[in-house]
Amino acid sequence: MDIFEKLKILADSAKYDASCSSSGSNRKNKNNGIGNGHVSGICHSWGADGRCISLLKILMTNSCMYDCKYCINRATNSIKRATFTPREIADLTINFYKRNYIEGLFLSSAVIKSPDYTMEMLVQTATILRNEYNFNGYIHCKTIPGCSKELIDKLGTLVDRMSINIELPSNDSLKLLAPQKEKTGILKPMNYISNNIQTNKIIKSKFKPKFVPAGQTTQMIIGATPESDLKILKLSEGLYQKLKLKRVYYSAYISVNNDRNLPTLETPPLLRENRLYQADWLLRFYGFKADELLDESHPNFNHILDPKCDWALRHIDKFPIEKNTADYFTLLRIPGIGVISAKKIIRARRTFLLDFEALKKLGVVLKRAKYFITCKGKYFDKVYKFNQNFIETNLVYQEKVDNNRKLNYEQLSLFSNNFSSSIYETLDKNNNYKNSLINNNLYNIATNEKNLLFNKLQPTKEDKIKCLTGNL
Ligand code: SF4
Repeated sequence: MDIFEKLKILADSAKYDASCSSSGSNRKNKNNGIGNGHVSGICHSWGADGRCISLLKILMTNSCMYDCKYCINRATNSIKRATFTPREIADLTINFYKRNYIEGLFLSSAVIKSPDYTMEMLVQTATILRNEYNFNGYIHCKTIPGCSKELIDKLGTLVDRMSINIELPSNDSLKLLAPQKEKTGILKPMNYISNNIQTNKIIKSKFKPKFVPAGQTTQMIIGATPESDLKILKLSEGLYQKLKLKRVYYSAYISVNNDRNLPTLETPPLLRENRLYQADWLLRFYGFKADELLDESHPNFNHILDPKCDWALRHIDKFPIEKNTADYFTLLRIPGIGVISAKKIIRARRTFLLDFEALKKLGVVLKRAKYFITCKGKYFDKVYKFNQNFIETNLVYQEKVDNNRKLNYEQLSLFSNNFSSSIYETLDKNNNYKNSLINNNLYNIATNEKNLLFNKLQPTKEDKIKCLTGNL
């Protein structure tokens, strides 16, 4: 089999791995070598299923000795198999790099012969790239659970990031769908890598090689087993706190095999995956705890509203928040206010008291925030009532408008006048929404907005002439 045939098979097999986003690594070019690792990370592209994938993202092999039920590469599947040699991967990486196709390598692998044998091959690939080709670009390598510590040590000094997939959220699920794997067998090497990273950071020596400078990540399959969002989020929280993971990736379960233990899903639960990413962000950057966002009486995220809006509506007693006095972490709890906006608010109010106009000028988006804040003790003009139902109706309406807008995305056209009307027409058809809007005095506002938007999009005669003569 030639190398291009292998590339086709092994790049295709790698598309189910979601844990390959930005590098977070800063590796300088040295000894006149090739490439460097930037914090902006490796190149990405969009897969056919809408997922973000990196350009050189391949498996070393798809010949696997294990038989995980959800996996396309499992031993009992009858698929085309291929295995790269370490030299072939190193050559491909360098050739792609020189053609400017990629900035780094994301290398994963099925388990061939034994964990140690597979890991040896990964180590050899990284060694050729770093020591022979003097490649200083970004390398993210999977670690094979069950391999020896010596091999982890070797690989860790060659690559920027390592990851071990935790696969499923509980040991019971692993037993059911990946019976050859065990939670402890996965957590042990993760813990070992984490300790090595921490120790490496403490030792201050110019000559010490860096160990996994971009940290370790993991990936979890969502929707193949019955665990709730609360259980998944608690697991992620533990991984961030105890093992200092850089990222937990959530991968919506894609049905590729038939098995009585697997769920029958027509489409992958991508919205659930998205909600988990949003909640994960709240854990890492907004100071939220998993059991604040969800609890046993409410173990799953709302599919209509994002986790912060959902949380705010369930804790309406904590609102409204006065923009001019709230501290940074309180500001971060307001739906629609992110880290950048919160910092801008804190900075600006040192010199003057903020009103809603000032917030707009600062670039603070009020679409969601306006329902949850006061400025100088006053509500936003168009927020007539401060109660849970009113706010929820408006947020859900806004979410529907946004979703419809996304569905109506089209190639930008100066003379397009379809999109605004179609959003509102779709909403008009839904009588429940129309009635709830009428009850809340919002229907007239929506209609006015519709007309304004529609008129704005109409090209004038002058626009048309300028466009046709190439002057626009
Ligand atoms: S070990 Fe990895 S590649 Fe092999 S069957 Fe399991 S998930 Fe698939």
